[in-house]
Amino acid sequence: MFGSESLQLAAASIATWSALLAAPFVGSFLGVLVRRLPDGLPIAWSRSRCEWCGAALSAGDLVPLYSWLAAHGRCRYCGHSLGWFYPGIELAAIAVPLTAAIVDHGSEIWLDCLLGWWLLALAWIDIRRWLLPDPLPLPLVIAGLVVTAMLDPVKLTENALGAVAGYLSLRVVASLYRMLRGREGLGRGDAKLLAASGAWLGAGALPQVVLGAAVTGLFAAGCLQLAGVRLRAHSALPFGPFLALATWLVWLFGPFSA
Ligand SMILES: [Zn+2]
Repeated sequence: MFGSESLQLAAASIATWSALLAAPFVGSFLGVLVRRLPDGLPIAWSRSRCEWCGAALSAGDLVPLYSWLAAHGRCRYCGHSLGWFYPGIELAAIAVPLTAAIVDHGSEIWLDCLLGWWLLALAWIDIRRWLLPDPLPLPLVIAGLVVTAMLDPVKLTENALGAVAGYLSLRVVASLYRMLRGREGLGRGDAKLLAASGAWLGAGALPQVVLGAAVTGLFAAGCLQLAGVRLRAHSALPFGPFLALATWLVWLFGPFSA
């Protein structure tokens, strides 16, 4: 006889495995989103043609990771190198449920993955294009407030305040920077992303998110310098990926207390 505990356990492992199985396909979709959204191109569930020769892709050409490996990273029709982009984002999408499974099981893991995949798309677009298109951060703010209202309604005020504080604080910093240095240092997109952080995590977690993003950003700049990339006062790194990473880690493991 199954007790309610073993039923819960079974449901939890089904949720975890289904998230893991869905991840490569979600990654493939995120790849299409990252390439098309910044240019306002229509987003289909999957690629339909080779970007170089225009050959129509069959279902077999679209199996995540496998099709790339089978064709040795080249288009089967024109032989053009496909690069690392699609396998890269598919692997990153798999890393999301793998990381979430460290802390959560059951239906929560799907919520973790939803946030993680959304942040992954935002971060990747920011790295490629230096922008965070509005169709991503703004619905993420709303999603954060809806999730809070459903799961933890007592925190709704704090999280709504978090969204406002997240947006305003980075706007103020950006204005100060512009006044002092005479050029843009932070994009509007960063402020919208921190608003989303606030909506998911609450106002109290924002200092940790900003600090975490700044520390990982400096660490990345240090690694680039060690790798021989010369960074000057005028060089910059997009801040969005670090805000996204810090948001994801505080959501999973935090908020951290001293
Ligand atoms: Zn081709």
